Amino acid sequence: MTKYIFITGGVVSSLGKGIIAASLGRLLRARGFSVINQKFDPYINVDPGTMSPFQHGEVFVTDDGAETDLDLGHYERFTDTSLGKYNNVTSGSVYQTVIEKERRGDYLGATVQVIPHITNEIKSRIMGATKQFKPDFQLIEIGGTIGDIESLPFIEAIRQFKTEVGIGNAVSVHTTLLPYLPTSGELKTKPSQHSVQVLRSYGIQPEILVCRTTKPIPKTEKEKLALFCSVPKEAVIECRDMKSIYEVPLALEAQNMAKVVLDMLRVDDRKADLKGWEKLVERIKNPEKTIKVAIAGKYTKLSDAYISVVESLKHAGYADNAAIDIKWINSEDCVDASKCKELMKDVQAVVVPGGFGVRGIEGKLNVIRYARENNVPFLGLCLGMQCAVIEYARNVAGIKDANSKEFDENAQYPVIDLMLEQKNVHGYGGTMRLGAYDCVLKKGSKAAKAYGKEKISERHRHRYEVNNEYLNQISDAGLVFSGMSPDGMLAEVVELPHLDWFVACQFHPEFKSRPERPHPLFKGLIDAVMKQKSAKA
Ligand code: GLN
Repeated sequence: MTKYIFITGGVVSSLGKGIIAASLGRLLRARGFSVINQKFDPYINVDPGTMSPFQHGEVFVTDDGAETDLDLGHYERFTDTSLGKYNNVTSGSVYQTVIEKERRGDYLGATVQVIPHITNEIKSRIMGATKQFKPDFQLIEIGGTIGDIESLPFIEAIRQFKTEVGIGNAVSVHTTLLPYLPTSGELKTKPSQHSVQVLRSYGIQPEILVCRTTKPIPKTEKEKLALFCSVPKEAVIECRDMKSIYEVPLALEAQNMAKVVLDMLRVDDRKADLKGWEKLVERIKNPEKTIKVAIAGKYTKLSDAYISVVESLKHAGYADNAAIDIKWINSEDCVDASKCKELMKDVQAVVVPGGFGVRGIEGKLNVIRYARENNVPFLGLCLGMQCAVIEYARNVAGIKDANSKEFDENAQYPVIDLMLEQKNVHGYGGTMRLGAYDCVLKKGSKAAKAYGKEKISERHRHRYEVNNEYLNQISDAGLVFSGMSPDGMLAEVVELPHLDWFVACQFHPEFKSRPERPHPLFKGLIDAVMKQKSAKA
Protein backbone atom coordinates (compact mmCIF):
# COMPACT_ATOMS: atom_id res chain seq x y z
CA MET A 1 0.00 0.00 0.00
CA THR A 2 1.20 3.48 -0.85
CA LYS A 3 2.25 5.67 2.08
CA TYR A 4 1.72 9.42 1.86
CA ILE A 5 3.96 12.30 2.89
CA PHE A 6 2.48 15.80 2.78
CA ILE A 7 4.79 18.81 2.70
CA THR A 8 3.53 22.25 3.66
CA GLY A 9 5.36 25.52 4.19
CA GLY A 10 5.03 28.22 6.80
CA VAL A 11 6.34 31.66 7.78
CA VAL A 12 7.50 32.76 4.31
CA SER A 13 7.33 31.56 0.73
CA SER A 14 10.39 30.46 -1.29
CA LEU A 15 11.59 28.11 1.45
CA GLY A 16 12.69 25.53 -1.06
CA LYS A 17 9.91 23.08 -0.21
CA GLY A 18 10.31 21.58 -3.66
CA ILE A 19 13.97 20.80 -3.05
CA ILE A 20 13.14 19.32 0.36
CA ALA A 21 10.36 17.15 -1.10
CA ALA A 22 12.67 16.08 -3.92
CA SER A 23 15.51 15.36 -1.48
CA LEU A 24 13.36 13.20 0.76
CA GLY A 25 12.24 11.40 -2.38
CA ARG A 26 15.88 10.77 -3.25
CA LEU A 27 16.57 9.32 0.22
CA LEU A 28 13.68 6.89 -0.14
CA ARG A 29 14.76 5.95 -3.67
CA ALA A 30 18.27 5.36 -2.35
CA ARG A 31 16.70 2.72 -0.12
CA GLY A 32 15.17 0.96 -3.09
CA PHE A 33 11.62 2.25 -2.60
CA SER A 34 9.58 3.54 -5.52
CA VAL A 35 8.64 7.17 -5.11
CA ILE A 36 6.59 9.79 -6.88
CA ASN A 37 6.23 13.45 -6.07
CA GLN A 38 3.13 15.48 -6.63
CA LYS A 39 2.64 19.26 -6.48
CA PHE A 40 -0.56 21.06 -5.56
CA ASP A 41 -0.68 24.64 -6.79
CA PRO A 42 -3.45 26.78 -5.33
CA TYR A 43 -3.73 29.27 -8.20
CA ILE A 44 -6.69 29.42 -10.57
CA ASN A 45 -4.76 28.94 -13.82
CA VAL A 46 -5.52 25.46 -15.12
CA ASP A 47 -1.78 24.99 -15.64
CA PRO A 48 1.24 27.31 -15.68
CA GLY A 49 1.46 27.08 -19.48
CA THR A 50 -0.21 30.43 -19.98
CA MET A 51 1.74 32.27 -17.27
CA SER A 52 4.63 34.60 -17.96
CA PRO A 53 7.98 33.12 -17.00
CA PHE A 54 8.50 36.34 -15.02
CA GLN A 55 5.53 35.36 -12.86
CA HIS A 56 6.14 31.73 -12.50
CA GLY A 57 9.56 30.72 -13.79
CA GLU A 58 9.97 27.89 -16.24
CA VAL A 59 7.14 25.71 -17.47
CA PHE A 60 8.31 22.11 -17.08
CA VAL A 61 7.03 19.69 -19.72
CA THR A 62 6.48 16.01 -18.98
CA ASP A 63 6.62 13.05 -21.37
CA ASP A 64 2.84 12.92 -21.52
CA GLY A 65 2.70 16.56 -22.56
CA ALA A 66 1.61 18.28 -19.36
CA GLU A 67 2.81 21.85 -18.80
CA THR A 68 3.71 21.88 -15.14
CA ASP A 69 5.32 23.71 -12.26
CA LEU A 70 9.10 23.89 -12.23
CA ASP A 71 9.19 21.86 -9.01
CA LEU A 72 8.41 18.80 -11.14
CA GLY A 73 11.80 19.38 -12.71
CA HIS A 74 13.45 19.14 -9.28
CA TYR A 75 11.44 16.01 -8.50
CA GLU A 76 12.49 14.31 -11.74
CA ARG A 77 16.12 15.32 -11.36
CA PHE A 78 16.40 14.21 -7.73
CA THR A 79 14.39 11.00 -7.88
CA ASP A 80 15.19 10.09 -11.50
CA THR A 81 11.52 9.28 -12.07
CA SER A 82 9.54 10.56 -15.06
CA LEU A 83 6.31 12.18 -13.95
CA GLY A 84 3.18 13.19 -15.80
CA LYS A 85 -0.04 15.13 -15.83
CA TYR A 86 -1.28 13.63 -12.56
CA ASN A 87 1.71 15.00 -10.72
CA ASN A 88 0.71 18.65 -10.84
CA VAL A 89 -2.72 19.65 -9.62
CA THR A 90 -3.91 23.26 -9.67
CA SER A 91 -7.04 24.79 -8.15
CA GLY A 92 -7.96 25.80 -11.68
CA SER A 93 -7.90 22.22 -12.95
CA VAL A 94 -9.82 20.97 -9.91
CA TYR A 95 -12.54 23.59 -10.32
CA GLN A 96 -12.66 22.99 -14.06
CA THR A 97 -13.41 19.28 -13.53
CA VAL A 98 -16.00 19.97 -10.85
CA ILE A 99 -17.76 22.62 -12.95
CA GLU A 100 -17.75 20.35 -16.01
CA LYS A 101 -19.36 17.61 -13.90
CA GLU A 102 -21.93 20.07 -12.59
CA ARG A 103 -22.81 21.17 -16.15
CA ARG A 104 -23.22 17.54 -17.19
CA GLY A 105 -25.62 17.01 -14.32
CA ASP A 106 -23.39 14.46 -12.59
CA TYR A 107 -24.23 15.83 -9.15
CA LEU A 108 -27.93 14.98 -9.53
CA GLY A 109 -29.29 18.26 -8.23
CA ALA A 110 -26.96 18.67 -5.27
CA THR A 111 -25.60 22.04 -4.24
CA VAL A 112 -21.98 21.90 -5.37
CA GLN A 113 -19.66 23.07 -2.59
CA VAL A 114 -16.00 23.35 -1.64
CA ILE A 115 -16.60 20.61 0.94
CA PRO A 116 -17.21 17.90 -0.19
CA HIS A 117 -17.06 18.39 -3.97
CA ILE A 118 -13.81 20.31 -4.38
CA THR A 119 -12.08 18.39 -1.58
CA ASN A 120 -13.29 15.07 -3.06
CA GLU A 121 -11.85 16.03 -6.43
CA ILE A 122 -8.52 16.90 -4.77
CA LYS A 123 -8.49 13.54 -3.00
CA SER A 124 -9.30 11.76 -6.24
CA ARG A 125 -6.26 13.49 -7.82
CA ILE A 126 -4.10 12.03 -5.05
CA MET A 127 -5.54 8.59 -5.78
CA GLY A 128 -5.26 9.10 -9.55
CA ALA A 129 -1.48 9.42 -9.23
CA THR A 130 -1.39 6.47 -6.82
CA LYS A 131 -3.27 4.29 -9.31
CA GLN A 132 -1.07 5.30 -12.22
CA PHE A 133 2.29 4.77 -10.51
CA LYS A 134 1.50 2.46 -7.56
CA PRO A 135 4.48 3.90 -5.66
CA ASP A 136 5.68 2.84 -2.24
CA PHE A 137 5.72 6.51 -1.27
CA GLN A 138 3.85 9.50 -2.64
CA LEU A 139 5.21 12.89 -1.58
CA ILE A 140 2.74 15.72 -1.99
CA GLU A 141 3.88 19.32 -1.76
CA ILE A 142 1.33 22.08 -1.27
CA GLY A 143 2.37 25.35 -2.89
CA GLY A 144 2.12 28.63 -1.02
CA THR A 145 2.31 29.36 2.70
CA ILE A 146 0.06 28.13 5.51
CA GLY A 147 -2.51 30.82 6.17
CA ASP A 148 -3.07 31.64 2.50
CA ILE A 149 -6.79 31.75 1.74
CA GLU A 150 -6.42 30.02 -1.60
CA SER A 151 -4.73 26.88 -0.31
CA LEU A 152 -7.44 26.10 2.26
CA PRO A 153 -9.32 23.50 0.18
CA PHE A 154 -6.07 21.57 -0.32
CA ILE A 155 -5.28 21.65 3.39
CA GLU A 156 -8.81 20.51 4.22
CA ALA A 157 -8.52 17.68 1.68
CA ILE A 158 -5.28 16.57 3.32
CA ARG A 159 -6.90 16.64 6.76
CA GLN A 160 -9.67 14.38 5.50
CA PHE A 161 -7.28 12.15 3.60
CA LYS A 162 -4.98 11.63 6.60
CA THR A 163 -7.95 10.61 8.73
CA GLU A 164 -9.25 8.26 6.04
CA VAL A 165 -5.98 6.40 5.47
CA GLY A 166 -5.33 6.26 9.21
CA ILE A 167 -2.36 6.62 11.50
CA GLY A 168 0.85 5.17 10.12
CA ASN A 169 -0.13 5.67 6.50
CA ALA A 170 0.37 9.41 6.10
CA VAL A 171 2.57 12.03 7.73
CA SER A 172 2.90 15.79 7.42
CA VAL A 173 6.18 17.58 7.09
CA HIS A 174 5.99 21.29 7.84
CA THR A 175 8.78 23.47 6.49
CA THR A 176 9.48 26.75 8.25
CA LEU A 177 12.06 29.48 8.63
CA LEU A 178 14.06 30.31 11.75
CA PRO A 179 15.01 33.95 11.35
CA TYR A 180 18.34 35.00 12.85
CA LEU A 181 18.43 38.26 14.81
CA PRO A 182 21.98 39.61 14.73
CA THR A 183 21.32 42.05 17.58
CA SER A 184 20.53 39.27 20.04
CA GLY A 185 22.57 36.67 18.20
CA GLU A 186 19.62 34.26 18.25
CA LEU A 187 17.63 32.05 15.94
CA LYS A 188 13.97 32.72 16.66
CA THR A 189 11.44 29.91 16.85
CA LYS A 190 8.26 31.92 17.44
CA PRO A 191 7.21 32.29 13.78
CA SER A 192 7.50 28.51 13.40
CA GLN A 193 5.42 27.95 16.54
CA HIS A 194 2.74 30.26 15.17
CA SER A 195 2.77 28.63 11.79
CA VAL A 196 2.24 25.21 13.38
CA GLN A 197 -0.59 26.69 15.43
CA VAL A 198 -2.29 27.86 12.25
CA LEU A 199 -1.83 24.44 10.69
CA ARG A 200 -3.32 22.83 13.80
CA SER A 201 -6.29 25.19 13.63
CA TYR A 202 -7.01 23.54 10.25
CA GLY A 203 -6.90 20.15 11.90
CA ILE A 204 -3.41 19.10 10.88
CA GLN A 205 -0.73 18.30 13.41
CA PRO A 206 2.61 18.07 11.60
CA GLU A 207 4.74 15.10 12.59
CA ILE A 208 8.01 16.52 11.26
CA LEU A 209 9.48 20.02 11.12
CA VAL A 210 12.10 21.06 8.62
CA CYS A 211 13.63 24.38 9.61
CA ARG A 212 15.41 26.55 7.11
CA THR A 213 18.20 28.45 8.80
CA THR A 214 21.44 30.23 8.07
CA LYS A 215 23.03 29.02 11.34
CA PRO A 216 23.15 25.70 13.19
CA ILE A 217 20.12 25.25 15.47
CA PRO A 218 21.25 24.97 19.12
CA LYS A 219 19.98 21.90 20.98
CA THR A 220 17.92 24.09 23.31
CA GLU A 221 16.05 25.64 20.37
CA LYS A 222 15.40 22.23 18.84
CA GLU A 223 13.95 21.10 22.15
CA LYS A 224 11.83 24.20 22.35
CA LEU A 225 10.47 23.62 18.85
CA ALA A 226 9.75 19.99 19.68
CA LEU A 227 7.91 20.95 22.86
CA PHE A 228 5.83 23.80 21.46
CA CYS A 229 5.07 22.16 18.15
CA SER A 230 4.40 18.66 19.58
CA VAL A 231 6.89 16.81 17.43
CA PRO A 232 9.55 14.36 18.61
CA LYS A 233 13.00 15.92 19.03
CA GLU A 234 14.53 13.77 16.32
CA ALA A 235 11.84 15.04 13.95
CA VAL A 236 13.09 18.63 14.14
CA ILE A 237 15.32 18.71 11.08
CA GLU A 238 17.75 21.49 10.31
CA CYS A 239 18.11 22.61 6.72
CA ARG A 240 20.92 25.11 6.30
CA ASP A 241 21.58 27.17 3.20
CA MET A 242 23.87 25.19 0.95
CA LYS A 243 26.03 26.06 -2.03
CA SER A 244 24.43 23.38 -4.18
CA ILE A 245 20.88 22.06 -3.97
CA TYR A 246 22.29 18.57 -4.54
CA GLU A 247 23.87 18.67 -1.07
CA VAL A 248 20.44 18.79 0.59
CA PRO A 249 19.68 15.03 0.47
CA LEU A 250 22.97 14.28 2.25
CA ALA A 251 22.31 16.93 4.90
CA LEU A 252 18.88 15.41 5.58
CA GLU A 253 20.32 11.89 5.61
CA ALA A 254 22.90 12.93 8.19
CA GLN A 255 19.97 13.77 10.48
CA ASN A 256 18.21 10.48 9.75
CA MET A 257 15.21 12.21 8.26
CA ALA A 258 14.22 9.24 6.09
CA LYS A 259 14.46 6.88 9.06
CA VAL A 260 12.26 9.19 11.16
CA VAL A 261 9.67 9.25 8.36
CA LEU A 262 9.84 5.46 7.86
CA ASP A 263 9.39 4.81 11.58
CA MET A 264 6.33 7.02 11.66
CA LEU A 265 4.95 5.24 8.60
CA ARG A 266 5.73 1.86 10.15
CA VAL A 267 8.03 0.77 7.39
CA ASP A 268 11.31 -1.00 8.16
CA ASP A 269 14.30 1.09 7.28
CA ARG A 270 16.68 -0.21 4.63
CA LYS A 271 20.29 0.55 3.92
CA ALA A 272 20.59 3.63 1.74
CA ASP A 273 22.84 3.50 -1.28
CA LEU A 274 23.99 7.09 -1.66
CA LYS A 275 27.48 6.34 -2.94
CA GLY A 276 26.86 7.76 -6.39
CA TRP A 277 25.22 10.84 -4.95
CA GLU A 278 28.08 11.39 -2.50
CA LYS A 279 30.56 11.19 -5.36
CA LEU A 280 28.46 13.70 -7.27
CA VAL A 281 28.49 16.17 -4.37
CA GLU A 282 32.23 15.64 -4.00
CA ARG A 283 32.69 16.61 -7.65
CA ILE A 284 30.36 19.59 -7.28
CA LYS A 285 32.33 20.90 -4.32
CA ASN A 286 35.76 20.45 -5.89
CA PRO A 287 35.67 21.58 -9.51
CA GLU A 288 39.00 21.62 -11.33
CA LYS A 289 38.05 24.44 -13.64
CA THR A 290 35.33 26.93 -14.45
CA ILE A 291 33.60 27.35 -17.77
CA LYS A 292 31.78 30.53 -18.64
CA VAL A 293 28.60 29.78 -20.56
CA ALA A 294 26.29 32.48 -21.87
CA ILE A 295 22.54 32.05 -21.90
CA ALA A 296 21.15 34.56 -24.36
CA GLY A 297 17.45 34.96 -23.76
CA LYS A 298 14.62 37.26 -22.89
CA TYR A 299 13.90 36.44 -19.25
CA THR A 300 17.44 36.83 -17.94
CA LYS A 301 16.35 38.82 -14.88
CA LEU A 302 14.74 35.73 -13.39
CA SER A 303 17.04 32.73 -13.57
CA ASP A 304 14.13 30.43 -12.61
CA ALA A 305 12.77 31.06 -16.10
CA TYR A 306 15.52 28.80 -17.46
CA ILE A 307 16.09 26.61 -14.43
CA SER A 308 16.25 23.29 -16.29
CA VAL A 309 18.70 24.76 -18.80
CA VAL A 310 20.92 25.99 -15.98
CA GLU A 311 20.76 22.65 -14.17
CA SER A 312 21.51 20.74 -17.39
CA LEU A 313 24.61 22.86 -17.96
CA LYS A 314 25.74 22.19 -14.41
CA HIS A 315 25.15 18.44 -14.81
CA ALA A 316 27.32 18.40 -17.92
CA GLY A 317 29.94 20.39 -16.01
CA TYR A 318 29.93 17.92 -13.10
CA ALA A 319 30.82 15.09 -15.48
CA ASP A 320 33.91 17.03 -16.60
CA ASN A 321 34.81 18.31 -13.12
CA ALA A 322 33.97 21.81 -14.23
CA ALA A 323 31.95 24.49 -12.52
CA ILE A 324 29.64 26.44 -14.80
CA ASP A 325 29.64 30.21 -14.53
CA ILE A 326 26.51 31.46 -16.27
CA LYS A 327 26.71 34.80 -18.03
CA TRP A 328 23.20 36.09 -18.56
CA ILE A 329 22.95 37.98 -21.80
CA ASN A 330 19.75 39.84 -22.52
CA SER A 331 19.25 39.22 -26.22
CA GLU A 332 17.87 42.74 -26.64
CA ASP A 333 21.34 44.03 -25.74
CA CYS A 334 22.73 42.13 -28.73
CA VAL A 335 20.66 43.80 -31.42
CA ASP A 336 23.70 45.96 -32.03
CA ALA A 337 26.32 43.59 -33.53
CA SER A 338 29.32 45.34 -31.97
CA LYS A 339 27.72 45.25 -28.52
CA CYS A 340 26.99 41.57 -29.10
CA LYS A 341 30.64 40.95 -29.93
CA GLU A 342 31.67 42.76 -26.78
CA LEU A 343 29.29 40.68 -24.62
CA MET A 344 30.32 37.41 -26.24
CA LYS A 345 34.06 38.03 -26.07
CA ASP A 346 34.74 36.27 -22.79
CA VAL A 347 32.31 33.34 -23.07
CA GLN A 348 33.38 29.81 -23.88
CA ALA A 349 30.00 28.47 -24.94
CA VAL A 350 26.53 29.82 -25.56
CA VAL A 351 22.99 28.52 -25.25
CA VAL A 352 20.06 30.19 -26.95
CA PRO A 353 17.05 28.80 -25.09
CA GLY A 354 13.36 28.51 -25.92
CA GLY A 355 10.98 31.42 -25.95
CA PHE A 356 8.07 33.14 -27.58
CA GLY A 357 7.53 36.34 -29.54
CA VAL A 358 9.66 38.69 -31.57
CA ARG A 359 11.31 40.70 -28.79
CA GLY A 360 15.07 40.23 -28.74
CA ILE A 361 15.12 38.01 -31.83
CA GLU A 362 17.55 40.08 -33.87
CA GLY A 363 19.90 39.96 -30.88
CA LYS A 364 19.64 36.17 -30.72
CA LEU A 365 20.45 36.00 -34.43
CA ASN A 366 23.59 38.10 -33.80
CA VAL A 367 24.62 35.83 -30.93
CA ILE A 368 24.23 32.74 -33.12
CA ARG A 369 26.11 34.37 -35.99
CA TYR A 370 28.95 35.23 -33.63
CA ALA A 371 29.07 31.65 -32.34
CA ARG A 372 29.04 30.24 -35.87
CA GLU A 373 31.69 32.58 -37.22
CA ASN A 374 33.98 32.22 -34.22
CA ASN A 375 33.52 28.52 -33.51
CA VAL A 376 32.12 29.18 -30.04
CA PRO A 377 30.36 25.97 -28.97
CA PHE A 378 26.63 26.60 -29.37
CA LEU A 379 23.45 24.83 -28.36
CA GLY A 380 20.07 26.09 -29.60
CA LEU A 381 16.87 24.97 -27.91
CA CYS A 382 13.48 25.15 -29.61
CA LEU A 383 13.24 28.86 -30.44
CA GLY A 384 17.04 28.76 -30.36
CA MET A 385 17.01 26.22 -33.18
CA GLN A 386 14.46 28.21 -35.17
CA CYS A 387 16.75 31.23 -34.84
CA ALA A 388 19.76 29.16 -35.93
CA VAL A 389 17.88 28.17 -39.09
CA ILE A 390 16.86 31.78 -39.80
CA GLU A 391 20.41 33.02 -39.21
CA TYR A 392 21.86 30.40 -41.57
CA ALA A 393 19.19 31.07 -44.18
CA ARG A 394 19.87 34.81 -44.11
CA ASN A 395 23.63 34.94 -43.83
CA VAL A 396 24.78 31.79 -45.61
CA ALA A 397 21.99 30.40 -47.82
CA GLY A 398 21.32 33.84 -49.28
CA ILE A 399 17.65 34.08 -48.26
CA LYS A 400 18.11 37.66 -47.11
CA ASP A 401 14.66 38.22 -45.63
CA ALA A 402 14.23 34.78 -44.09
CA ASN A 403 12.04 34.95 -41.02
CA SER A 404 9.53 33.10 -38.86
CA LYS A 405 5.81 33.64 -39.22
CA GLU A 406 5.80 34.01 -35.45
CA PHE A 407 7.78 37.24 -35.79
CA ASP A 408 6.23 38.51 -39.00
CA GLU A 409 2.89 37.14 -40.09
CA ASN A 410 3.49 38.44 -43.60
CA ALA A 411 7.04 37.15 -43.90
CA GLN A 412 7.91 36.71 -47.56
CA TYR A 413 10.43 33.95 -46.84
CA PRO A 414 9.00 32.06 -43.88
CA VAL A 415 11.71 29.48 -43.25
CA ILE A 416 9.92 28.88 -39.95
CA ASP A 417 6.16 28.51 -40.25
CA LEU A 418 3.19 27.60 -38.11
CA MET A 419 2.74 23.81 -38.02
CA LEU A 420 -0.13 22.58 -40.16
CA GLU A 421 -1.81 20.94 -37.16
CA GLN A 422 -1.71 24.32 -35.39
CA LYS A 423 -3.49 26.29 -38.10
CA ASN A 424 -7.00 25.74 -36.78
CA VAL A 425 -6.08 25.83 -33.12
CA HIS A 426 -7.75 28.50 -31.01
CA GLY A 427 -6.79 29.58 -27.51
CA TYR A 428 -3.47 29.33 -25.75
CA GLY A 429 -3.98 26.83 -22.92
CA GLY A 430 -2.41 23.44 -23.58
CA THR A 431 -2.72 23.73 -27.36
CA MET A 432 0.91 23.49 -28.50
CA ARG A 433 2.63 20.36 -29.78
CA LEU A 434 3.46 19.00 -26.35
CA GLY A 435 5.33 16.11 -24.83
CA ALA A 436 7.46 13.22 -26.03
CA TYR A 437 7.88 12.50 -29.73
CA ASP A 438 10.38 10.26 -31.48
CA CYS A 439 13.20 11.57 -33.60
CA VAL A 440 15.60 9.76 -35.91
CA LEU A 441 19.18 10.96 -36.02
CA LYS A 442 21.46 10.86 -39.06
CA LYS A 443 24.11 8.17 -38.82
CA GLY A 444 27.52 9.62 -38.03
CA SER A 445 26.15 13.06 -37.12
CA LYS A 446 27.41 14.88 -34.05
CA ALA A 447 24.01 14.40 -32.43
CA ALA A 448 23.93 10.64 -33.10
CA LYS A 449 27.47 10.28 -31.74
CA ALA A 450 26.56 12.23 -28.60
CA TYR A 451 23.50 10.06 -27.94
CA GLY A 452 25.26 6.87 -28.97
CA LYS A 453 22.11 5.87 -30.85
CA GLU A 454 19.94 6.99 -33.71
CA LYS A 455 16.41 6.65 -32.37
CA ILE A 456 15.59 9.04 -29.56
CA SER A 457 12.53 10.47 -27.84
CA GLU A 458 12.43 14.01 -26.51
CA ARG A 459 9.93 16.46 -25.06
CA HIS A 460 8.43 19.26 -27.11
CA ARG A 461 6.57 22.51 -26.61
CA HIS A 462 6.13 24.49 -29.79
CA ARG A 463 3.75 25.81 -32.43
CA TYR A 464 6.20 26.57 -35.22
CA GLU A 465 8.53 24.36 -37.25
CA VAL A 466 11.07 24.49 -40.06
CA ASN A 467 9.24 25.07 -43.33
CA ASN A 468 10.08 22.08 -45.52
CA GLU A 469 9.87 24.19 -48.69
CA TYR A 470 13.23 25.68 -47.72
CA LEU A 471 14.85 22.52 -46.45
CA ASN A 472 16.85 21.72 -49.59
CA GLN A 473 18.01 25.26 -50.17
CA ILE A 474 19.28 25.58 -46.61
CA SER A 475 20.86 22.14 -46.45
CA ASP A 476 22.53 22.68 -49.85
CA ALA A 477 24.16 25.70 -48.23
CA GLY A 478 25.68 23.42 -45.57
CA LEU A 479 23.37 23.27 -42.56
CA VAL A 480 22.87 19.57 -41.81
CA PHE A 481 19.40 18.46 -40.77
CA SER A 482 20.66 15.67 -38.58
CA GLY A 483 17.42 14.80 -36.79
CA MET A 484 13.97 14.37 -38.30
CA SER A 485 10.65 13.03 -37.06
CA PRO A 486 10.26 9.33 -38.03
CA ASP A 487 8.04 10.29 -41.01
CA GLY A 488 10.75 12.66 -42.21
CA MET A 489 8.39 15.63 -42.12
CA LEU A 490 9.58 17.64 -39.15
CA ALA A 491 13.10 18.96 -38.64
CA GLU A 492 14.19 18.14 -35.11
CA VAL A 493 17.98 18.72 -35.06
CA VAL A 494 20.34 20.87 -37.14
CA GLU A 495 24.10 21.01 -36.92
CA LEU A 496 27.26 22.28 -38.58
CA PRO A 497 29.72 19.36 -38.77
CA HIS A 498 32.83 21.47 -39.40
CA LEU A 499 32.46 23.41 -36.14
CA ASP A 500 33.39 22.02 -32.73
CA TRP A 501 29.78 22.08 -31.49
CA PHE A 502 27.03 23.86 -33.31
CA VAL A 503 23.89 21.87 -32.62
CA ALA A 504 20.31 23.01 -32.19
CA CYS A 505 17.12 21.07 -31.58
CA GLN A 506 13.40 21.68 -31.85
CA PHE A 507 12.81 19.77 -28.62
CA HIS A 508 13.79 20.56 -25.02
CA PRO A 509 16.63 18.29 -23.93
CA GLU A 510 16.92 20.25 -20.66
CA PHE A 511 13.89 18.40 -19.25
CA LYS A 512 15.65 15.04 -19.34
CA SER A 513 19.08 15.82 -17.91
CA ARG A 514 19.93 14.28 -14.54
CA PRO A 515 22.71 15.28 -12.14
CA GLU A 516 24.38 11.89 -12.44
CA ARG A 517 23.46 11.47 -16.12
CA PRO A 518 23.91 14.70 -18.07
CA HIS A 519 21.97 15.04 -21.30
CA PRO A 520 24.08 14.12 -24.36
CA LEU A 521 23.55 17.45 -26.11
CA PHE A 522 24.61 19.49 -23.06
CA LYS A 523 27.49 17.09 -22.50
CA GLY A 524 28.48 17.57 -26.15
CA LEU A 525 28.54 21.33 -25.63
CA ILE A 526 30.69 21.23 -22.50
CA ASP A 527 32.96 18.50 -23.88
CA ALA A 528 33.61 20.72 -26.90
CA VAL A 529 34.69 23.55 -24.60
CA MET A 530 36.98 21.18 -22.70
CA LYS A 531 38.60 20.06 -25.97
CA GLN A 532 39.09 23.64 -27.11
CA LYS A 533 40.60 24.52 -23.75
CA SER A 534 43.10 21.68 -23.83
CA ALA A 535 43.92 22.44 -27.48
CA LYS A 536 44.77 25.98 -26.42
CA ALA A 537 46.71 24.93 -23.30
N1 GLN B 1 7.89 30.15 -30.11
C1 GLN B 1 8.37 28.98 -30.75
C2 GLN B 1 7.24 28.05 -31.18
O1 GLN B 1 6.14 28.16 -30.71
C3 GLN B 1 9.34 28.23 -29.88
C4 GLN B 1 8.73 27.66 -28.65
C5 GLN B 1 9.73 27.32 -27.59
O2 GLN B 1 10.87 27.76 -27.63
N2 GLN B 1 9.31 26.56 -26.60
O3 GLN B 1 7.45 27.18 -31.97
